[in-house]
Amino acid sequence: MWSFKAWRRRRILQRHQIQPAQWQAVLARLPILDGLSEQELQRLRERAVLFLHDKRLTALPGVTLGEHERLLLAVQAQLPLLNLEDLDWYQGFHEIVLYPDDFLSPQRYRDASGVEHEWDDARSGEAWQQGPVILAWPGVESSGGWAGYNLVIHELAHKLDMLNGGANGLPPLHRDMRVQDWASAMQSAYDALNKELDANPEAETAIDPYAAEDPAEFFAVTSEYFFSAPDLLEAAFSEVYRQLMRFYRQDPLQRLRRLQAEHPDYRPVENTTND
Ligand SMILES: [Zn+2]
Repeated sequence: MWSFKAWRRRRILQRHQIQPAQWQAVLARLPILDGLSEQELQRLRERAVLFLHDKRLTALPGVTLGEHERLLLAVQAQLPLLNLEDLDWYQGFHEIVLYPDDFLSPQRYRDASGVEHEWDDARSGEAWQQGPVILAWPGVESSGGWAGYNLVIHELAHKLDMLNGGANGLPPLHRDMRVQDWASAMQSAYDALNKELDANPEAETAIDPYAAEDPAEFFAVTSEYFFSAPDLLEAAFSEVYRQLMRFYRQDPLQRLRRLQAEHPDYRPVENTTND
């Protein structure tokens, strides 16, 4: 059967081909793609082109956005969706705005006694319920390695979370998953992390303590780790790793272990923190 969607897709892909040298340059900048099969890389390559066609990338003064930079962003945006096809997962936004540096975001909080607190928080990314995704370019540039940090995946995880309402750490799960299993894995890990930080706010937690902020941040941060430090996440919170594996339908830890088995000096394990 003739499909307009498929025809349109083919046309876009034909018109916007990525040159081999350009593709190689992008792969070289993104170790988190190492070990993906040729078919998987090809899928990512096509999805990146379609993504750039669908979304508007707006660079504020101070950000140079060439083809290489656009691809770096798009490919990382598509990695979480590699095996998710049955829904337009990024339907919730049309634009990504790139800031030259971290930015101040106005925050407001009403405490238990009803007092309203307002302050400015330095952020490297933000995702609004009905609006664009905002990313500070230095954060995008620091993403892509096996370092437990990926600003692109973090902010887009918020968008996935928002697909079924507000950001609450529960994205739309697949039919073969149970909300109950998800909730209990996430909740107990979240509670354990908070307990550790309550006892010692300076504790060297296994994952970025920013995950303890609220359930939405927990999902975004653990998604970052899932793709960029799966070994750390699995060691700390194996049930969370398993739920994310079922949600994203990928197993980055297996891929990383295979790379390490093939090249014993692959990836010196380093952990960095972020917000
Ligand atoms: Zn966040």
